[in-house]
Formats: sequence, structure tokens, C-alpha cells
Amino acid sequence: MLILLTNDDGVMSPGLKALADAFQDFGRVVIVAPDRNRSAVAHALTLESPLRAEEVRTDLFAVDGTPTDCVNLGIHGLLREMPDLVISGINRGANLGDDITYSGTVCAAMEATLMGVPAFAVSLDDTAHQGKNLPLAARFSRHLAAHLLDNGLPEETFLNVNVPAQKVRGMRLTRQGKRRYGDVVTRKEDPRGRSYYWIGGGDLGFEDIPGSDCNAVHEGYISVTPLHTNLTNDSSLQDLSDWQIPLT
Ligand code: MN
Repeated sequence: MLILLTNDDGVMSPGLKALADAFQDFGRVVIVAPDRNRSAVAHALTLESPLRAEEVRTDLFAVDGTPTDCVNLGIHGLLREMPDLVISGINRGANLGDDITYSGTVCAAMEATLMGVPAFAVSLDDTAHQGKNLPLAARFSRHLAAHLLDNGLPEETFLNVNVPAQKVRGMRLTRQGKRRYGDVVTRKEDPRGRSYYWIGGGDLGFEDIPGSDCNAVHEGYISVTPLHTNLTNDSSLQDLSDWQIPLT
């Protein structure tokens, strides 16, 4: 059994360590992760500069690239065989609803799926990173991995797993929900009198959609959302079918 682990918080993240510890006797575990925090880089791939992978110790590589670079380089460059499973996480903070399109954690799992390797992303709704549920999230990941290896996943499908920070009441299969972002841009001035800006910050809300990932985590359930790589909105094909756009 060959498991490839990655994340977007960087190779030193406690979430990645917890995951690696949980899989210690599961087979060969290879970690290929960014050498620093690359959160919110989504599915970015480095094409205009070389990548370096430092083998910190056996089967632990720190890459000066994105999570997607790590999966790509891991599968095609560093490993001599295809992994049986790729797991990305455990992310510091949830990846719920619209977070998914920003998330380096989730897109690393998507990258593995594009390469035909089963994958899931796992995040802990705990940005304070007190880590109370980190061991539970790691154990759940192991159980889920065993289940996936036995049962497989539907084609082009991967899983987005989110673990609540509070007491866990169980697991729910969910749909992607809807975040409410604060739309906050904070303007500050640097010591030389020039403006700089911070995007985001503050508490994130969500829309109350029964069956969604946001609701499940809010109610204390581990959320497991099956995602697929094809983003076509099938139902809108019918709605837009009478469009006539002139060519010239
Ligand atoms: Mn992150």
C-alpha cells in the first residue's frame, strides 16, 4: 500500500503530522508538501519556474511549489509507482461551501483525481488550531481511507471532508453549501506612507441550507461531500439552449 500525503499549510503543519502519525502502519506513507504555507492558492500549477524538492528525511519532501505541484511532482517525479490513495490535509480551518474553489487543500485532492488516483481532502474547523479534534480527524481519515481502498469511489469523484471543532456527533454525507464572506478589505498605511490592503478576515457566516456541508459541521457532524472534477452546470444547459449569439 502506498499513500501520498500533502497539504497547503506547509510541511511543518501539525495537521499533516497528525495525519502521517495515523497512517504510520498503514503501508508506505510518502509526504510531498509545500515548504511553506500556500493556503488559498487553489489549483495553481507552477509552469514558469523550476521546482525543487528537498528530501528532509526518507519519504518526506518539502517542495517550493503549490499543493497541486506537490501531487503532480509526487506522482510523476518522486514516486516510482502510482499511489493507491492521496490525502490532503489536515487543513487548519474548514473548507466549506464556496471555500472549495479557493482551497489548495481541496484542489490537491482534485489534482490526484485528474490523474486517476482516489483522493480526499480533510479539514478541521479550527483556525485557532487548538487541535482538540485533530486526533479524531486523523483517526476518521484512516477509517475513511480503509473504506475507500476496499470500496473505491465513483469515476472522477473525490471527497471533501470537514471535521467540526466541537464535540462530534457522527458523520453526514452532504452537498456543497454556501458561504457568506465578510467582503472586508482592510486598508492600512506602511511606514513609508504607501497604502496596503488585507483581503478577508473576520468571522465567516453561511447560508442555512439543510443537507449542506456548512450545516453539518455547524451541527457537530463530520461532513463528507462527494465532488467531481467536471464543473458543467448540467441543468442550465437546458435553460440556455435557446441562446442565439451573433457571430459577427
Ligand atoms: Mn490551509
